Amino acid sequence: MGLMFFCWIASLLYQQICAAPRDHGFRERPLLEISKFWHISDLHIDPTYHITEDHTKVCYSSKGFPASDPGIFGDFMCDSPYELILSAFSYMKSVDLEPEFIIWTGDSPPHVPAEKLSTDTVINMISNMTLTIRQFFPQLPVYPALGNHDYWPQDQLPVNENDIYQAVARIWSPWLQPEALITLRKGGFYSQLIKPGLRLVSLNTNLYYGPNKVTVNMSDPAGQYEWLQDTLELSKQNMERVYVIAHVPVGYLPYAKNTTAMREGHNERLVNIFRNYSDIIQGQFYGHTHRDSMMVLLDRKGKPVNSIFVTPAVTPYRSFLEQYSNNPGVRMYLYNAQDYGLQDLWQFYLNLTEANQEEKPNWRLEYTMTKAFGITDIQPESLHELALKFEAPDSKEFQKYFTYFMVSYNDTVTCTEECKSIQVCSVHFLDHESYSECLQKVTGGDF
Ligand SMILES: [Zn+2]
Ligand SMILES: [Zn+2]
Repeated sequence: MGLMFFCWIASLLYQQICAAPRDHGFRERPLLEISKFWHISDLHIDPTYHITEDHTKVCYSSKGFPASDPGIFGDFMCDSPYELILSAFSYMKSVDLEPEFIIWTGDSPPHVPAEKLSTDTVINMISNMTLTIRQFFPQLPVYPALGNHDYWPQDQLPVNENDIYQAVARIWSPWLQPEALITLRKGGFYSQLIKPGLRLVSLNTNLYYGPNKVTVNMSDPAGQYEWLQDTLELSKQNMERVYVIAHVPVGYLPYAKNTTAMREGHNERLVNIFRNYSDIIQGQFYGHTHRDSMMVLLDRKGKPVNSIFVTPAVTPYRSFLEQYSNNPGVRMYLYNAQDYGLQDLWQFYLNLTEANQEEKPNWRLEYTMTKAFGITDIQPESLHELALKFEAPDSKEFQKYFTYFMVSYNDTVTCTEECKSIQVCSVHFLDHESYSECLQKVTGGDF
């Protein structure tokens, strides 16, 4: 049933993969050999989640604020109940899309005050999530990255060996090779060959995250920049292609004016390295913002050179300060099996309100990128063209992009003027100079 079902889905979504069956009963050779992988992020399990009359007591992660409409699969004021996480993995397994591997960009523990957690509980939660993934996908390689919540106290990820890096090196040892485990244990990052010619680099960008007090004045925390530089240089010499994964993304936040996701100086240095090696980096994959967004890295002459994706969270959580949230999402990427170039992404989601009402987790396709936006693939040039369309007043493409940004949480929320300027500048401009120029231009009346 695997291939048949896949081809049926594929024929709906991606005509190039499976040609129509001929009279003689066998399929034509596909035009393009496509491989696939899942991307999951920000599970944020809240083991205290339970349905009770008093809505302020549904989950610790709501921090005393009342849950909005709690049901079996969660609430927008709370982190994920185990039931929600199980429903996501069950769906990924049952849909049987023949993935080759999974990337997992961090944040297992819930958003709760430090005193509710400890080093041990954080390790336990990462361990539980790892075991759950292994139970569902015993055969699949999984490449994790650490999130800012995957430490206690949160955000304070250190620059040398500690109990948590040691624990994750042990917990993830079924997936990673001894060489990867050495740097994971020391600095929370690693690289590993996915297959001949394709390397995965998992960065610990939490070392560059603003709230991390340990690394404030360090120019190269844990020597990660130097390591990254050396790793990419070696990859280049070996003619490899690279996928970069990490938790905290590069670039500017799509929802906060003039704010980089990591510290500004650290962001500049990372962007420089990515520009220098953009010819071998075939994709960058992040989490952390919990929202669905993309970026296109431009080289110093303005040519699009890298596709960058931020995947939405599994947790539907929003803090009481935020206006809107996201539905739970999981994502699949399609890539060219020959040159590892990215072809498409399929975003799946759960309409949480509906799932709670029906007491059934009806995970389904939210959109496929090429179809939704009328582009041929998700290479840098195609994303660049799309992003230029966003700039038009009343751009239909942008309205769609913004609805997907919240994982279809609410399609009546609109994003215009400053909201839109911030979104649009963040897609194209990842360094201080070009971003400031963009903001100046759009707020100067040209927009
Ligand atoms: Zn998170
Ligand atoms: Zn995070």
